[in-house]
Amino acid sequence: MEFDEFAERAGEIEAETADLVVVDLVTGLLSAASDDLPTVVRFVQGRVFPAWESTTLDIGPNYCYEAIARAAGPNVSADDVEERLADRGEIGDVAASYDFGGQRGLGAFAGGERSGLTVGEVADELGTLATAEGAGSQDAKIDRLFGLFNRCDPEEARYVARIVLSEMRIGVGEGTVRDAIAGAFDVPVGSVERALQVSNDYGRVAVVARDEGEAGLDAMRLEIGRPVQSMLAQAGTVAGALEDWAEAAVEWKFDGARVQLHHDPDGGTSVFSRNMEDVTDALPEVVEFADERVDEPVILDGEVVGVDDDGDPLPFQEVLRRFRRKHDVAATREDVAVRPVFFDCLHRDGDDLLDAALTERHDSLTEVLDDGEGLSELWVTDDPDGIAGVEADSLESGHEGIMLKNPDSTYSPGRRGKNWRKRKPDVETLDLVVTGAEWGEGRRASLLGTFLLSARTEGASERGSDARESSPHAGYETLGKVATGITDEELEELTDLLEPHVLSEDGQDVDVAPAVVFEVGYEEIQESPTYSSGYALRFPRFLAVRDDVEPADADSLERVERLADRQ
Ligand code: AMP
Repeated sequence: MEFDEFAERAGEIEAETADLVVVDLVTGLLSAASDDLPTVVRFVQGRVFPAWESTTLDIGPNYCYEAIARAAGPNVSADDVEERLADRGEIGDVAASYDFGGQRGLGAFAGGERSGLTVGEVADELGTLATAEGAGSQDAKIDRLFGLFNRCDPEEARYVARIVLSEMRIGVGEGTVRDAIAGAFDVPVGSVERALQVSNDYGRVAVVARDEGEAGLDAMRLEIGRPVQSMLAQAGTVAGALEDWAEAAVEWKFDGARVQLHHDPDGGTSVFSRNMEDVTDALPEVVEFADERVDEPVILDGEVVGVDDDGDPLPFQEVLRRFRRKHDVAATREDVAVRPVFFDCLHRDGDDLLDAALTERHDSLTEVLDDGEGLSELWVTDDPDGIAGVEADSLESGHEGIMLKNPDSTYSPGRRGKNWRKRKPDVETLDLVVTGAEWGEGRRASLLGTFLLSARTEGASERGSDARESSPHAGYETLGKVATGITDEELEELTDLLEPHVLSEDGQDVDVAPAVVFEVGYEEIQESPTYSSGYALRFPRFLAVRDDVEPADADSLERVERLADRQ
């Protein structure tokens, strides 16, 4: 494809605002791309290389301004280019505003009006430019880019400049390209989507769609050494997770940096960051871990955590230092040791596991890491108390909290869906008055196990004894029950503390005079008809007895309302 045709079509796409028409225009572009299809698919997204490749042009904006200035003529400096950029706001517009005459004069002399530049030539030039390394490489890059601009007419220059700086800005997102590939080669969108997930290579997917159709796309597999986009998490709550799923899979949330390990005992090891950058050289510990402990071809998803001399986790910033270090790794390694923890298995010995359930993938992971070293443990439970316990252990061990995952969910690369949730940290705690309780069952029949919590209504402290005589709970409104976060030992203490204040009993239910104040954590305050306050705490947890707070000074319903409003 001639590059001026690409530029013309890109201009039409840029001018169009209706999404469906944009998809049609991109479809037309891909259909017309013939041999240049893989390049055109990348260029239209402002990419020169496939997303999984670590190669970059590594050319900063200043070098691009320099090349533009040189192509624009002897009277133009890089500063002039920057000034125009400040004026026009966008590098493509700046490049198109100059007359890069040089070579075009020669072209016209040879009988052609056009620059004759093809998409393939632009790709080759940029590919060569990316390979320049070492001393003088930046000059070599500017020279080559200058040569390229010199052959461009204004519209071509507009898009070369944007591609070089990865700022295509023609309104073509990944979804548009996916739909256009499906449209241009008459294959199902789902097959294109899946093929993109496993390969991260739009160019290759487009070619397979064109040449081999749906069957070819469906046959595409993960490859060891080629990174996959990481599945991402949203913020969530325990209460929400247990409402949405029968059970939740719970894991510690490690405070480190995401890593994807690609290991083949016969083929070598690569480590990629969350952005699919190759970080193998920066993390020799991960390579050593794989060499020592993994004896089959795998792709594992996990986190590297910085550890101090005692093996305790270090803050995440320390790990980032290691990521940034490409050189002198040995020295930094002395400062910050890292160790990997893996929580997912995407591929094992020839089998792609993206479509397997989380629990199955975790079973595979457990088999791969059969001595348990570097394995993130997973608990599947519907018990909020159990989840609170996992969270307490995680925090106690110096980690960040917990992740809640849907046990049946597949691995969705690049998605921030609802199947993985990081538990939101607790909001401000509340000091609430215990106004009731329930006896436990079985072994705990002689212990109070569930505690009814109330907030003070504003008048409670002033209303005086008259009101309280009429009803022991006047001036208090209920808003939840807490049974989570209490150890057996604490249950005994709480029973001793509350028994003297028991007013009456009805089966398991106990009425308690306002005397004891609990500090409780919770995930959210909801409006709810269940309790007399009109509010309910979600996932309330016992934190402590507030010996130092009188019921009359406990938190008021007004504060509860304010906190609820702020959420
Ligand atoms: P955030 O970065 O706050 O959005 O939280 C999500 C990140 O937590 C993931 O991208 C991982 O890097 C990290 N993480 C730590 N532990 C886990 C785990 N057990 N499962 C999934 N992600 C985890």
